[in-house]
Amino acid sequence: MDLSLSPEHISFRDEVTAFLLDNKDKWPSSGLPMRHQKRLAWQKLLIEHGYAARTIPAEYGGYGAEPDILKSRLISEAFAQTGAPPPMANQGISMLVPTLLEMGSEEQKQAHVAKTLRGETIWCQGYSEPGAGSDLASLKTSATVDGSDYLINGQKIWTSTAQQADMIFCLVRTDADAPKHHGISYIIFPMDTPGIEVRPLVDMTGAPNFNEVFFTDVRVPIENVVGEPGQGWRVANATLKHERGMLGNPNAAKARLLAIVELMKAETIDGERLIDSPVFRDRLVRLQAEVYAMLANGMRVMTASLKGEPAGMAGLIIKLQGCELNHQLAGLAIDAMGELGLLYGDSPRIRDRGSWQWRYMYDLGLIIGGGTAQIQKNIIAERGLGMPREPKPQVAA
Ligand SMILES: Cc1cc2nc3c(=O)[nH]c(=O)nc-3n(C[C@H](O)[C@H](O)[C@H](O)COP(=O)(O)OP(=O)(O)OC[C@H]3O[C@@H](n4cnc5c(N)ncnc54)[C@H](O)[C@@H]3O)c2cc1C
Repeated sequence: MDLSLSPEHISFRDEVTAFLLDNKDKWPSSGLPMRHQKRLAWQKLLIEHGYAARTIPAEYGGYGAEPDILKSRLISEAFAQTGAPPPMANQGISMLVPTLLEMGSEEQKQAHVAKTLRGETIWCQGYSEPGAGSDLASLKTSATVDGSDYLINGQKIWTSTAQQADMIFCLVRTDADAPKHHGISYIIFPMDTPGIEVRPLVDMTGAPNFNEVFFTDVRVPIENVVGEPGQGWRVANATLKHERGMLGNPNAAKARLLAIVELMKAETIDGERLIDSPVFRDRLVRLQAEVYAMLANGMRVMTASLKGEPAGMAGLIIKLQGCELNHQLAGLAIDAMGELGLLYGDSPRIRDRGSWQWRYMYDLGLIIGGGTAQIQKNIIAERGLGMPREPKPQVAA
């Protein structure tokens, strides 16, 4: 097997790397607000050069390139190697856009895809409710027909970025009499529609990263449904597949791994660099092996998707493995900082603006969000390994 790159691919890799390094002055720093001009300008530049939204058709605001797995991989590697801020990845870009491209109407694609890709429209995901998380199909938020509109009433919870979002993609029950998976619709609407109230929830990072969202007679045109009314479960699952891919992205893990290597070269114990300490090296190498296994797995998933084949087990493990790996990487970075790893907030001695500590806490949440680790294990066992399905509770008549 010849694993070396062709001259064309070597020159492509060098071109991407040179572009990223030549534009270092345009790199937005990680703490900037979502709509900061520097972040939007960087995203626009990346799309124009085909380093973001690469294979999304140009008519919807993407770059319009033919899929090329190797080039996509070389681009991701160039971001990881140079430390350049990667293309924006959020619920709009990574989840809603592919769902609209697959199942949305032409009007919906024209109205939302380009603006979302450019980072101008921020979306939030209204799935979970107080009584519907892992068992999402139990959701109760209702949408009843009133003329050519729905009137939406109910409550969502854990809605990330709802306080900044312009739009929501939301699951509502449009048919209370249908079997629970068939009475659901997937609907999109602006977050400034009258009748929406957003109440922030603070997580363990100390920031209000998610929210409760209340709907009281929120009027939304029926045409805002994606797919057909009652087909929302199918549309929601398409979005969830993309969410799990986003949360377990192996290239993000590789960028973190490389940052930890630098950290371990800089940190010392009794004059010995951590990178030379057998104990820390063991931990690093174990995680490195997992990162590279996930990168190889990512290639399998991408290959299957380009061939139009199901990714099978390779796709099912991404979320569980990727999120737990990211959490362990942040844990290693904190340990590598020694006592400084315990600092948080605005301490003058804090390293990297406390980003590793923040990641360690936030990533714990991502092991839950998008489907908990236990639910992922159920899915792997049932759909991947063909083990017996877990018993469903009997509902009293
Ligand atoms: C950081 C973060 C961000 C989030 N962002 C969003 C968002 O933007 N939009 C949104 O809609 N939701 C969001 N969520 C919600 C998330 O999707 C839910 O928390 C998740 O699906 C679990 O639901 P739950 O919290 O109701 O827990 P439950 O479903 O009540 O689960 C409680 C516990 O029971 C276990 N459990 C439940 N059922 C089973 C089973 N069948 N087998 C084995 N174990 C089981 C679970 O694994 C868990 O440990 C977010 C959550 C987090 C933590």
